[in-house]
Amino acid sequence: MPQGKIVKALSGFYYVQDQGRLVQCRGRGIFRKNNISPLVGDEVKYQAENDQEGYILEVFERKNELVRPPISNVDQAILVFSAVEPDFSPTLLDRFLVLIEANDIEPLIVISKSDLISSEEVKKKVHNYAKDYENIGYKVLLTSTVESTVDEDLLPLLQNNISVFAGQSGVGKSSLLNVLRPDLDLKTDDISSHLGRGKHTTRHVELISVGTGFVADTPGFSSLDFTGIEVEDLSYCFPEMRERSSDCKFRGCTHIREPKCAVKQALDNGEIPQYRYDHYVTFLEEIKDRKPRY
Ligand code: GDP
Ligand code: ZN
Repeated sequence: MPQGKIVKALSGFYYVQDQGRLVQCRGRGIFRKNNISPLVGDEVKYQAENDQEGYILEVFERKNELVRPPISNVDQAILVFSAVEPDFSPTLLDRFLVLIEANDIEPLIVISKSDLISSEEVKKKVHNYAKDYENIGYKVLLTSTVESTVDEDLLPLLQNNISVFAGQSGVGKSSLLNVLRPDLDLKTDDISSHLGRGKHTTRHVELISVGTGFVADTPGFSSLDFTGIEVEDLSYCFPEMRERSSDCKFRGCTHIREPKCAVKQALDNGEIPQYRYDHYVTFLEEIKDRKPRY
């Protein structure tokens, strides 16, 4: 039975890419019965009726599932944060990182618009942040679509996986995708056009192939609240805390006021930047204050 990946869903059809060919498939009643509906990103078994048409028989188990955009099996989130215009925001970056860690997705931090850095002071600030995040273990790329090194640097990291862009509007996500796939000629500065939010129409999601990899054409993590993340999960979403918490005296230490806390110790030694810890505390409060949903 042939297998492939759903790369597009539109008007009741699922477009399954199977090596070189794209097969337009319908789902079958079986999905309604099992209460599972196919998603872009799914690996599926399908029955081919001819070269172009078929129907989906089975959806393989998903690694993860995003709600907005509706897409499964996301391997990597490319967090685009501009160095300037808008200014680099570690607070927002940490918020994205928590959500991405909670979804078991590999983050890749892209600091964009490096060509617009105009002072030594800003340059130093951005480089220091980059170093901090690298020390945590994250991959960080400094890019510019003007002085393009995007091809060399970013392209290899997009192979053999499914990536989704994330980041505020105006940071350069469409511009990056344009460098990767100039043939698509996406409009920049026009958020409703392709990397579509903005308009309230529901639009379809599509995986765009970039070499042997795929990139979602719609940015992920548009909702940045911590729904589904509990107080005790939060420090697991900070790798530098996660790896130290086994040395805390108390199991389930929240690293706030507990004695003999390895995280607080690392903070005092300067091994964990103060702002990362502060963000942890802010997010923890936010989760504690969350009203139960009924
Ligand atoms: P998006 O909303 O994240 O998709 O951002 P866009 O790709 O639409 O970019 C927003 C604006 O920033 C556009 O005017 C782009 O031309 C500009 N821009 C994006 N990347 C760069 C860059 O690396 N350098 C410079 N100078 N401008 C950029
Ligand atoms: Zn602790």
